Amino acid sequence: MKSALIECQNINYEYPNRGMALRDVSLEIEEGKKTAIIGPNGAGKSTLFLHFNGVLKPKYGQVLFQGEPISYRGKDLSRLRKDVAVILQNPDDQIFSATVEEDVAFGPLNIGLPRDEVASRVDEALSLVDMTHIRERPSQQLSFGQRKRLALAGALAMRPKVLIMDEPTAGLDPHMVQEVLELTEELHMNGITLIMSTHEMEVAYSWADEFKVMHQGRLLFSGPAEELFANGTLLELLGFQAPAVYRFNEEMVRSGVLDMEPVPRNMVEMRLKLCHKDDRTVGGLEVRAMGKERIPSIEEVHGLLSQGRAVGYYGSKAKHLLAMTLPADVRLPGLTGCLDKMIDGDEAVLYAEANLIPSIQDHINNYSKKFQVSIPVTVDQGWNDR
Ligand code: ADP
Repeated sequence: MKSALIECQNINYEYPNRGMALRDVSLEIEEGKKTAIIGPNGAGKSTLFLHFNGVLKPKYGQVLFQGEPISYRGKDLSRLRKDVAVILQNPDDQIFSATVEEDVAFGPLNIGLPRDEVASRVDEALSLVDMTHIRERPSQQLSFGQRKRLALAGALAMRPKVLIMDEPTAGLDPHMVQEVLELTEELHMNGITLIMSTHEMEVAYSWADEFKVMHQGRLLFSGPAEELFANGTLLELLGFQAPAVYRFNEEMVRSGVLDMEPVPRNMVEMRLKLCHKDDRTVGGLEVRAMGKERIPSIEEVHGLLSQGRAVGYYGSKAKHLLAMTLPADVRLPGLTGCLDKMIDGDEAVLYAEANLIPSIQDHINNYSKKFQVSIPVTVDQGWNDR
């Protein structure tokens, strides 16, 4: 059964003296999905988001959350905003407190949670965004990327059902973009419904289950990405192009090298598709369970690297625990980065918390099935006990 967590029914909105910012927008956001909202500047994406958490009220039409029309009474709105967190494009519009930890604690304190609950949520949120080591730092002294992560931590500390991110990757370097996407993947696994607006088609394509397109306050498209990319007129109107990997796949079809399906969503997937075509084998993945009692030593990681194996982590906890032993300048890849090396023929070791191992296996099975490539995986639950 399809379940809409958020629904907009013919909503219209006008800023004072500014023409219509939203025109007759009707849409549904499905629970547990990752939805990308695409559109040029001024299309109405941010205005739409502020309707999802009741900051703005439509002039006509209505917004429903979990099937009920939003009530704009103060108490009801506070309850709604516990469930629906919006992270604004500019973190400075959202960060008010003097230090990192005070800022993350602000929301949970504001909804009256007991001190120890606030403290544990702050710890959890800071660990997720990897800011525990700078928790006492004045928020004024953070870099742009750190302020973006702080705004994210503030939202996560509310443990929302829906996380709405307005241009979360804008202004971040490629490594940080990857980190944000990996983190959202983890939130997705925990059942959080995710919505992101972005200009970056490549990011949206490798990330989202569902695409929605806004233009001049109107919703022009809702559906799977491939349907949008096949609509050249709409792409032209938006001034967008289909992502490079999609166009490359089309080009290979035209040249008679590949079939259109399965359509790869990023370069790693394209490479897996080519592995299948050329009957090439992929290096194996060894997954090693880790936890507070099982943190690999620097010697162990160096040993693996010197054997020519790729070493990576899966999940923010594993990343955090590894950061405790590794020098700050060592940046390990995630699952996708390891796969990239495995396609080169390398063997890889991925450290992960034991409870995330099934999810790694799911990802690998999905890749294997989609591209019909055998990806050997072994799981070592107790490597440190030997
Ligand atoms: P997007 O997020 O897609 O860039 P916005 O929702 O920010 O689009 O903007 C939609 C339209 O509303 C634009 O024409 C913009 O100029 C106008 N707008 C947005 N915020 C405000 C505001 N606070 N006051 C007046 N007009 C605004």
